[in-house]
Amino acid sequence: MATVLVTGGNGYIGSHTVISLFESGYDVVIADNLANSKMEVQKRLKTICGRDFKFYKVDCCDEKALSVVFEENRIDSVIHFAGLKAVGESVRIPLDYYSNNIGSAITVCKLMKKYGVKNLVFSSSATVYGMSEDVPFTEESPVGICTNPYGWTKWMIEQILRDFAVSEPSMKICLLRYFNPVGAHESGLIGEDPRGIPNNLFPYISKVAGGTLEKLTVFGDDYDTPDGTCLRDYIHVVDLAEGHVKAIQYLDSHDAGVCLFNLGTGKGTSVKEAIAAFEKACGHPINHVFGDRRPGDIAVCYASTEKAEKDLGFKARYNIDDMCSSCWKWQTMNPEGLADD
Ligand code: NAD
Ligand code: UDP
Repeated sequence: MATVLVTGGNGYIGSHTVISLFESGYDVVIADNLANSKMEVQKRLKTICGRDFKFYKVDCCDEKALSVVFEENRIDSVIHFAGLKAVGESVRIPLDYYSNNIGSAITVCKLMKKYGVKNLVFSSSATVYGMSEDVPFTEESPVGICTNPYGWTKWMIEQILRDFAVSEPSMKICLLRYFNPVGAHESGLIGEDPRGIPNNLFPYISKVAGGTLEKLTVFGDDYDTPDGTCLRDYIHVVDLAEGHVKAIQYLDSHDAGVCLFNLGTGKGTSVKEAIAAFEKACGHPINHVFGDRRPGDIAVCYASTEKAEKDLGFKARYNIDDMCSSCWKWQTMNPEGLADD
């Protein structure tokens, strides 16, 4: 049985990916420093999968500590999720973002080289397409001119990994650019569990629907879009998780080098449409007001899914209603989020 090291495997996307890997017959080892997740996730994974996964509480920037994970396990592939991801926070503490995100990626690469591990899947983001609105974004669309340090870390790590692959011609590296992951596992046991007041739309709507927050502010309704609100490509986190299994399988069956795929649905959903879909899922109105535009937001962002469909065999299965109903189940089962460790 092939073993996948999942860094950041205790987090939102990582934990769902652990389940998909397990269901596809992989063994999983998790490395996470709990900077943005709680140990309760491991208990929930055990309930869902009926078994424990080997878990290391380790900072992926710490080469010595992370080397123990490679020393003690025969790792076949790495999926590198570990990183900080809050856009606003990255503007306030950019050095922390650069050192954590870039530092952990470099450390993972060094150890993969040292221990002869060839397959790497990296969590990149549609944010690398910057302020362009030339949709749909294809993998050939121009990147750069990111609007915040978080985005630049993704852009820089992509470049670092390309350089690494040139220097290590037997490496197989898959860059995955996620669009907007939302939703939760069907069990309602794991989902997105942001600390404090959420910044992203779906966690915020969920909390308004659940009564923890009073109202949602829609950031701008004067965009050049059909209903005036921004369009995003929301993708169910379970679909996204399955995309990672496809990526590992792709690396196993292809030659060395770097490959790149968008993971989205190819469909733009407006903020107003998202609210309406969530109202349908929870069965009551979502209190909302219309406010100013949020600085740095673009009007439209959605993926071209052609390459992922053709080469990776990946096609999202779930629609916006599925995303909302799973979010709502997660919210109602965990109104205060997960318990502190
Ligand atoms: P998350 O914060 O829920 O998960 C990340 C996990 O990594 C957390 O459990 C955190 O504790 C851990 N971590 C952070 N720094 C670490 C370090 N130095 N060493 C060990 N563990 C560390 O985030 P997520 O939404 O699951 O995102 C996973 C990855 O996908 C991130 O790299 C993120 O930038 C990327 N991504 C996320 C989105 C999104 O909207 N959620 C979109 C595009 C890309
Ligand atoms: N949004 C909003 N109110 C909120 C949070 C988000 O209107 O409280 C809008 C935001 O302006 C964007 C969309 O919802 O148009 C998705 O925002 P999110 O932060 O989830 O994703 P991103 O903008 O990073 O793609």
